[in-house]
Amino acid sequence: MDTNRTAKLEFAVQMSCDSCVNAVKGVLEKEPGVQSVHVDLAKEQVLVETALTSLQVQSLIESTGRRAVLKGIGNSESDLGAAVAMVSGAGLVQGVVRFLQLSQDRCLIDGTIDGLMPGAHGLHVHELGDLTQDCMSCGDHFNPFRKPHGAPQDSERHVGDLGNITAGPDGRASFRLEDSQIKVWDVIGRSLVVDSGEDDLGRGNHPLSRITGNSGERLACGIIARSAGLFQNPKQICACDGVTLWEERDRPIAGKGRKVTDAPTANL
Ligand SMILES: [Zn+2]
Repeated sequence: MDTNRTAKLEFAVQMSCDSCVNAVKGVLEKEPGVQSVHVDLAKEQVLVETALTSLQVQSLIESTGRRAVLKGIGNSESDLGAAVAMVSGAGLVQGVVRFLQLSQDRCLIDGTIDGLMPGAHGLHVHELGDLTQDCMSCGDHFNPFRKPHGAPQDSERHVGDLGNITAGPDGRASFRLEDSQIKVWDVIGRSLVVDSGEDDLGRGNHPLSRITGNSGERLACGIIARSAGLFQNPKQICACDGVTLWEERDRPIAGKGRKVTDAPTANL
């Protein structure tokens, strides 16, 4: 599958002078996976057109000694929608996965999930955005056409079948997938679940192979919510928990420890 299609990533980067701009541009422009770089010093904004993952671009910017926060993701042609899932579970697994609709039949899925056992883990969009019983209330794999479970490249598969992601020795899986069946507008309000084991892609002998890929228990999940496209997120302070954009960067991306105090949520 063609996975070299570029997306535009908008980062907020702490920059105060022209030498900062040159440092950031310099490190990005020499990277083969970067198509173009635009820096707006006054807005502390860096726009990168790239086929790299958002984590790779963030790491490149931060290699210059500046902090970077991803603010938006979009593409060159038209705004077909973007979404994000903050994934967490009962254990240490947590991450952020972004969806960007590149065209009618191509969705980019860019994410980083931490706290996994090294190796392959099944990743699926599930039918329901219901976390009332944690990941157990997310329903089955999203399957509007009543197909058997399969691999991402199969035409006969659940729409939600994204195959496997692979965690390295540090427990981090960072990935950039393109999918022809997922549409951002169909998955907003549903959930994304990462499993404990490898998805056999419907090719196994286990009775669950054609149902779930026999990929084990649900480790972590998150509701897929509409997210900002490019330049749609002007915030500097996150009203939700009172931390600034920059402070937020140093907090865990989801789960416990994100808020300053882990006070119980007020009853609504
Ligand atoms: Zn499936």
